[in-house]
Amino acid sequence: MATQIQDPPSLPSWDLSDLYSAVDDPKIDKDLQQAVEHARKFEETYAGKVGQADISSDDLLHALDHYERLLREQSRPGSYASLHYSTDTTDTARGALTQKVREIGSQISTHLIFFDLELAQLPLESFDRLLKDPKLAKYHHYLEQQRDLAKHYLSQAEETILEETANCRGRAFKRLFTEVTSRMKYKFNLDGEERLLTQSELLAYSYDPDRNLRKAASESLAAELQNNAHVLTFIQNTLLHEKQISDRLRNFEHPESDRHVSNELDKQVIDVMTEVCVKNFDIVHQYYDLKRRLLGLDSLAHYDRYAPLRSQKQEIEYEKAKELVISSFGRFSPKMQELVEPFFDKNWIDVPPKPGKRSGAFCAGVTPDHHPYVLLNYTGKARDVMTLAHELGHGIHDLLAGKNHYLDYHPVLPLAETASTFAETLVFEKLQELLENPEEQLALLCEKLEDTFATVFRQISMFRFERQLHDARRQEGELTTERINGMWQQAMQEMFGPSLELGPDDQWTWLYIPHIVNTPFYVYAYAFGELLVLALYARYRQEGESFLPKYFELLAAGGSQAPAKLLSTLGFDIASAEFWQGGCDLIRANLEKAKELADKQLG
Ligand SMILES: [Zn+2]
Repeated sequence: MATQIQDPPSLPSWDLSDLYSAVDDPKIDKDLQQAVEHARKFEETYAGKVGQADISSDDLLHALDHYERLLREQSRPGSYASLHYSTDTTDTARGALTQKVREIGSQISTHLIFFDLELAQLPLESFDRLLKDPKLAKYHHYLEQQRDLAKHYLSQAEETILEETANCRGRAFKRLFTEVTSRMKYKFNLDGEERLLTQSELLAYSYDPDRNLRKAASESLAAELQNNAHVLTFIQNTLLHEKQISDRLRNFEHPESDRHVSNELDKQVIDVMTEVCVKNFDIVHQYYDLKRRLLGLDSLAHYDRYAPLRSQKQEIEYEKAKELVISSFGRFSPKMQELVEPFFDKNWIDVPPKPGKRSGAFCAGVTPDHHPYVLLNYTGKARDVMTLAHELGHGIHDLLAGKNHYLDYHPVLPLAETASTFAETLVFEKLQELLENPEEQLALLCEKLEDTFATVFRQISMFRFERQLHDARRQEGELTTERINGMWQQAMQEMFGPSLELGPDDQWTWLYIPHIVNTPFYVYAYAFGELLVLALYARYRQEGESFLPKYFELLAAGGSQAPAKLLSTLGFDIASAEFWQGGCDLIRANLEKAKELADKQLG
């Protein structure tokens, strides 16, 4: 159970008054009505003109400026409503405002929907002509993106049929997956009494110090997944087949190609990254060998993966956490400290857990010309300090990217976690220095390694599994549960090697992973983000001061360039194996440090 170390009122809440004064501020309505009116005028002026092959650069520039302004205008009331709601979801006035903004938002969208659709209809020659015109330089990236997507659109009539029937095809099966998996209850024997647990209640036992409970949780999970294997496999087969058809019609060469297009990455980059990760799987093998020794076990089973290495954890007061974050950022660069200070001084952070408040943490950017806000539920765990650093990293990214227009403000998915993960690394290093007890140091390091494995090697293993799954469906037709179980275990076992034996219970695990069903190939972006940060951090260690301007430039670019192009201007070649190896080397260095500490501890 989480202990409250400070009374909630003593922890700061955020101040939203630079958006609106209160939930009934008349300016909210005024701004919303104005946004609707502007959107209506926008449609009236530009609908039917944007998709004309001979549209002039001037006309398109006007339209884009107008469009960008509209999106910004609409964001302010929307951001206020959702931010205010998130700190008290039980307040009906806040709920009503959120709903109102959402409804007016849909009204605005109906006026704007034509824009991207018409752009996508432009012939490639028109795109080439427009992209060459320096007048449109500031929208270059946005237009390039639209052009790359346009290649894969079908005719408007076909797109309409697909959209209108989507809710009774793939989307229906995805919904069925969610409904089936969230209704599942798990039988669990606790102190001689059989209980029915939800999935999150059950999975919490995977982290229990008692090995018997961990084993029982794994058996219960497997039993319930097996009970539902028929329907879940059916859903999977249907979605695999649908994607096969869609990829053929839309001219996507490989099962993962559409994901690469939306991530603005070349297949070759991800293939190289994957190969490098596989070559470094021995880091995982060695780590679990070490964990086995630390747990004092003869062999490690799949249910020992998350076994805790320490029971008593030191608590950190918020003021201490704040100091730690500011000083770690400041040690990296005075500029970073300057950027983070207003979050504390101007109350851009909502810190305490409160009744009715949303759980978890986030950083919400509003528009390029307005600062972001951070929400926390701070309870004093070491993890909470890392979360504070993480969200403030996002905040700094948003502030720096504020020099871009709205369409280029948010970074693409693979770059979205750069600043947050980097900030965590800075604080982790400092936290490690502050811990005096070697046992605590080792435990923290092991937690960090396990987190890294979860974002890098596990995601890469899932990515390889997904590729194999799609290929197998395309070559062999409908797949049996046993066939998929086998592919899953092989992919996962390769990551663990001889250090840990995945027993028969583990073969069903793929059945409940939502990413595989909902967003195929999403997973590799996690590995990309984490390894990128490790590689950047390695460069920082090598280059020192001279790395800083490059780093800030990278963040300031926001979503204005595709990852490969952006990183190449900073001297990083993400198509090369060495780049990704740099990241893996840092994970290995942490492993070596852990081994050293463990050797001392185990004697
Ligand atoms: Zn994040």
